[in-house]
Amino acid sequence: MSSQAPIVIVGAGQAGVQIAESLRQEGYGGELLLVGEEAHPPYQRPPLSKKWLLEAGNPTSLAIRGADALVRRRIELKLEARVERVNRGAGVLELTGGERLRYARLALATGSLPRQLTVPGASLPGVLYLRGIADSAAISAAIRRCATESCPVVVIGGGFIGLEVAAGARKLGAEVTVLEGLPRLMSRVTAPIVSEAFERLHRAHGVRFVFNAQVTELRAPQACGTGAAAGPAAAGHVATVHTADGREFAAGCVVVGIGVAPDDRLAAAAGLACERGIIVDACSRTSDPGVVAAGDCTARRLPDGRLLRLESVQNAVEQGKSAAAALMGRERPFYATPWFWSDQFDVKLQMAGLSQGYDQVIVRGDVAKPAFSAFYLRTGRLIAVDSLNRISDHMLAKRLLDNDLSPTAEQIADTAFDLHSLIKQSA
Ligand SMILES: Cc1cc2nc3c(=O)[nH]c(=O)nc-3n(C[C@H](O)[C@H](O)[C@H](O)COP(=O)(O)OP(=O)(O)OC[C@H]3O[C@@H](n4cnc5c(N)ncnc54)[C@H](O)[C@@H]3O)c2cc1C
Repeated sequence: MSSQAPIVIVGAGQAGVQIAESLRQEGYGGELLLVGEEAHPPYQRPPLSKKWLLEAGNPTSLAIRGADALVRRRIELKLEARVERVNRGAGVLELTGGERLRYARLALATGSLPRQLTVPGASLPGVLYLRGIADSAAISAAIRRCATESCPVVVIGGGFIGLEVAAGARKLGAEVTVLEGLPRLMSRVTAPIVSEAFERLHRAHGVRFVFNAQVTELRAPQACGTGAAAGPAAAGHVATVHTADGREFAAGCVVVGIGVAPDDRLAAAAGLACERGIIVDACSRTSDPGVVAAGDCTARRLPDGRLLRLESVQNAVEQGKSAAAALMGRERPFYATPWFWSDQFDVKLQMAGLSQGYDQVIVRGDVAKPAFSAFYLRTGRLIAVDSLNRISDHMLAKRLLDNDLSPTAEQIADTAFDLHSLIKQSA
């Protein structure tokens, strides 16, 4: 392998950009190539289900970095270039169209893909998924048409994406029904008290919910509304959603938000160890010492042997920093407390830590408002905190968790008790 070959990063998203920039910060002075299949320069995805969905404005407002930032750091960006195959033996990437790129070292940051609905009718026009800029623009336009033509928006999935889209659709004036397969919202990641607060919030804004809803079929038999042929009334366009209990829901469009799957196809085909994602260690190293991976495409091996999958900006950024260090032969393990956020109507949900396995939830603040935090404990130790419109609790929670500090249940529930004092005492 020639020493002239660049470091190549496949996937020009949040993690890919971070790896490239961190490589420069780590002192890498050689050639650096960031390859992405999308047409847009690297952009942030969180606004796509939030503010940008309402505005569907200028894509440049989503850019992770300004136009000349990558140029200044001598990071070459190759867009609309899909890598089809990694030939690790030869150190070569094969692109769609036959182009071949040599690499000296390789980083994979290929992200994730929305899980697909597999019932009959799932591929009808008007059934929409949200991952990229074009998806968000299409959903925004479909919601507006539904609002104009008085056709309901049906959202399948009561997780973060589904609920953020539901909130956006209500703000744009559409009727919204959310079909959730489980008995409550965001049930895999939050306690019932948090789910209930969000259910009340959405209902107060007119969102309808159906729980334990098993979607069995989507159909396009009848027209809905009186609009243009390209809109919800068009022949062949989705018009109803059917559930296992025999119910039927009229739909001007259907937005599916049932989770994502890691895009580890390139890595798996290249023989890298994969299991629910590309397996990496805390330093973002894969099973090949010359290849690192970061972001949504990975599953991180924890010290106890379990695999941790996270889909968040923080994870992409932190793993990206670790990956860059590893490419430079340095160890920068990522052990920081995971955090995440979601915006729904006027409530900001901020999550710190991982609540799986909790045996006690203590509430601090005002549930009715809502302006409260749910503190998750396991055998008396703090493991996670969900905060609704309590930004200072969230900041504090991250520090408590990073420092393995645990308030008692009484201290948590007592809003007069200064939780910050625990950090001061330990300093
Ligand atoms: C609508 C939406 C809302 C979100 N909201 C939040 C939020 O509120 N908070 C939060 O923390 N996180 C949120 N996330 C998650 C967060 O955006 C992701 O975790 C983050 O973008 C992951 O970064 P990544 O670099 O791993 O993947 P991505 O940003 O998805 O980038 C991967 C890139 O790789 C490209 N690629 C894949 N395969 C190839 C190939 N073979 N050749 C070339 N290019 C390839 C893809 O096209 C893509 O551009 C949201 C995600 C979405 C979709």
